[in-house]
Amino acid sequence: MATLRVDSLRKEFDNGRIVAVNDLSLDVADGEFVTVVGPSGCGKSTTLRMLAGLEQPTDGKIFIDGEDITDVHARSRDVAMVFQNYALYPHKTVRQNMAFGLRMSTDLSSDQREEKVRETAAMMDIEELLDDKPNALSGGQKQRVALGRAIVREPDVFLFDEPLSNLDAKLRTTMRTEIQRLQDELGTTSIYVTHDQEEAMTMGDRIAILDNGILQQVGSPKHVYQNPVNEFVGTFVGSPAMNMLDVSVSTGDSVCLTNGDRFAYSLDGPVAQAVADAEVDSARLGIRPEDVAVSREPAESDIRAVVEVVEPIGSDNYLYLDLGESFIARVAADIEPTRGDTVGVQFDESDIHLFDTYGFSILS
Ligand code: ATP
Repeated sequence: MATLRVDSLRKEFDNGRIVAVNDLSLDVADGEFVTVVGPSGCGKSTTLRMLAGLEQPTDGKIFIDGEDITDVHARSRDVAMVFQNYALYPHKTVRQNMAFGLRMSTDLSSDQREEKVRETAAMMDIEELLDDKPNALSGGQKQRVALGRAIVREPDVFLFDEPLSNLDAKLRTTMRTEIQRLQDELGTTSIYVTHDQEEAMTMGDRIAILDNGILQQVGSPKHVYQNPVNEFVGTFVGSPAMNMLDVSVSTGDSVCLTNGDRFAYSLDGPVAQAVADAEVDSARLGIRPEDVAVSREPAESDIRAVVEVVEPIGSDNYLYLDLGESFIARVAADIEPTRGDTVGVQFDESDIHLFDTYGFSILS
């Protein structure tokens, strides 16, 4: 068990032409599970590789339990990494793969090693595979072995690098639950990298969102979802993505958001004060699809929109509406307008997100 602290970490490649990770600071509590998410090339793997000791930082420091391990060799760090491609030794059996890490990192007798491997194999439900070679295993089984190999070492910190990306959707969901169960059982401090925001949101105690090597926001999934600090986070987290519309802001007698001649939305709650304080005359209005209500008979005060596509997903329908820009509403399955219908659109002031022209939230 251990705390992990990352202090102003930076990694450059190509003599500084590429800044893969830029001034990243993060504190991870003992036993915490933090997911790191962001688009391809944002610096997730490089961050993890620096934590593992596989890449030397250009600047900054890494501490485990307060001890500076920035210059400690990978083999001497008490961390275990689980890779996307499993990274099993093809000529060793499952038992040998699992025992190998133990041999490298502890001074147990061979009987003790064997016992630990057996215990971990039981925990991972792979006992019957112990004498097989990786080639004989399915993707899911290989990933279980890779997890087992990490767990058997009882490291201070687990590092997961997109461990489920090579599995099919169903198996991915099963393994997600499995990893969460193991986390509950073992309570090991973990950093889990993924490009899948849903995976990051469902698995993390906290989620850290990276873009372009820069940490954008870190917080509980719920907090980040409800209070994105910028437009990037707002649209990256949540599916389908948050709707974004350009609006003009007027702050005379009342505060009003206007979208051309499509709508004028008067604000009178706490959002109005924040907008007035921000002193902007234009902004980006964000509304999540699940926060949009649609009525088939538009009321006087409703925003009117024409339905372009109705996409049923079983429990709900996604309505693609024409509001100048693409705008999606997630509504109950019994709201089934037809293409070309004009519907009424409503959303609560409390569900509004507003970003300035630089993309920063006006409301947080
Ligand atoms: P992905 O999700 O595609 O794996 P990522 O978020 O993990 O992406 P990184 O692999 O960390 O991103 O890469 C971050 C940036 O650093 C990218 O621009 C990448 O091209 C660059 N990079 C990574 N490793 C090297 C290297 N060894 N040499 C040069 N550039 C590199």
